[in-house]
Amino acid sequence: MISGKDIREKFLKYFEKHGHKIVDSSSLVPQNDPTLLFTNAGMNQFKDLFLGLEKREYTRATTCQKVVRAGGKHNDLENVGRTARHHTFFEMLGNFSFGDYFKKEAIEYAWEFLTKELGLPEEKLFVSIYYDDEEAFEIWNKVIGIPAEKILRRGEKDNFWSMGDTGPCGPCSEIHIDQGPEAGCRKPDCNPDCDCDRHLELWNLVFMQYDRSADGKLTPLPKPSIDTGMGLERITAVCQGKLSNYDTDLIKPIIEFTAKLAGKNYGNNEKDDVSLRVIADHSRSTTFLIADGVIPSNEGRGYVLRRIMRRAMRHGKMLGFDGTFFYKVCEFVVDFMGDHYIELKDKKDYISKMVAFEEKRFSRTLDLGLKLIDELLEKNKDRKEISGSEIFKLYDTYGFPIDLLQDIAEDNGYKLDLMGFDKEMALQQERAKKHWVGSGEEKIAEVYKKLSHLKTEFQGYDNHSLSSKILALIEN
Ligand code: ATP
Ligand code: MG
Ligand code: MG
Ligand code: MG
Repeated sequence: MISGKDIREKFLKYFEKHGHKIVDSSSLVPQNDPTLLFTNAGMNQFKDLFLGLEKREYTRATTCQKVVRAGGKHNDLENVGRTARHHTFFEMLGNFSFGDYFKKEAIEYAWEFLTKELGLPEEKLFVSIYYDDEEAFEIWNKVIGIPAEKILRRGEKDNFWSMGDTGPCGPCSEIHIDQGPEAGCRKPDCNPDCDCDRHLELWNLVFMQYDRSADGKLTPLPKPSIDTGMGLERITAVCQGKLSNYDTDLIKPIIEFTAKLAGKNYGNNEKDDVSLRVIADHSRSTTFLIADGVIPSNEGRGYVLRRIMRRAMRHGKMLGFDGTFFYKVCEFVVDFMGDHYIELKDKKDYISKMVAFEEKRFSRTLDLGLKLIDELLEKNKDRKEISGSEIFKLYDTYGFPIDLLQDIAEDNGYKLDLMGFDKEMALQQERAKKHWVGSGEEKIAEVYKKLSHLKTEFQGYDNHSLSSKILALIEN
């Protein structure tokens, strides 16, 4: 059985053989791009090349890019744990042409890689194109030999790719695999458009042709280019005969480590399994985001990280962890993934301490909040809704985060009266401020304030003195 690591290697080597320069993954924190929360695709680091604003000595490149999709235009946070194919952090394999080759070669490379290099069965593959892209249709049909009924035409939502509201974009063509009824929702009318795990999207080939401006106008790029992206975890699952990314050798060891720590067995009970998957996913994004310089906080990138971490901690409680555990899972991720991503190893101590700090800080709130929420669920079990004032009390008096409450409510089939909450909030804003003073949280608030100053100087990879400054702050 081919390993995930070998697939990563094979991909990069295949494209290197075809004249592509192997380029390192860029940071998860986009450099000089305020339009983007986190790096959400392999093409991000090449944005200026597509736009013709920058020239390099190569016109073909290939990467395995670290990606986080937990906010902004591409947000998969809610999918994690529930689908077999979505993560917040994943590795995206890609090949790029900057005004060099275009549709025909891009399609030929992708097809050869999947069917010859990896040996996927052609009969299970099908493709989609942008609805009026006759050129792509002809290539798939005449050059590759895909029967017309296996070339689906799709609209803007699926087959026109853009990284955000502005920037390079274009029509795309995607390669999917039908994994059979046992992989899906088992509905008798389940079809390739069904949003289940059966008809799995593997690889997106984007025909980069436009630059979208803030007012939505599309301007042709200087030269048509190619940007492709394939999730390493998905292709690994298919090659390893697994119906879920979480069962691959890229992720399963993290689940097993956590299960052992919790004294559980994966596969025994669906509720525990969801928690184990969420923790495995969130430990990867947490570890990688902290390594790239993000610090948990109450705004921007730091807030998304904090949200991810707190969700993982809540699932830890559901698994029965009493006290801290998440930092141990993150340490495991460092050891497990640190051979390819050396930035993790360099920062192991820092990552571990940062996570442990956040975990300790949140654990009392979490314990108390979860107890109160249980009571609320019980109290409201007939109407299945939590009132604005109840939400407000949890938030204002106990500091329990609303988004986490939202997760819990949803998991249990309850609604939240958020409008009512907003009203309470507006009414008592002044009082809430006064509550804060004297609650003992000032010191922590102070630390975070200092942290957010440091954060702006923090460069991610090699700024050791800064990470020790940060550690000194949180340890005091
Ligand atoms: P989906 O429709 O399954 O959500 P997508 O169309 O949003 O995927 P693209 O933006 O086309 O995904 O990204 C290119 C490739 O990256 C996908 O074909 C898939 O293999 C992989 N991918 C996308 N999102 C995720 C994710 N959240 N977790 C793991 N892999 C992903
Ligand atoms: Mg998606
Ligand atoms: Mg899609
Ligand atoms: Mg896609």
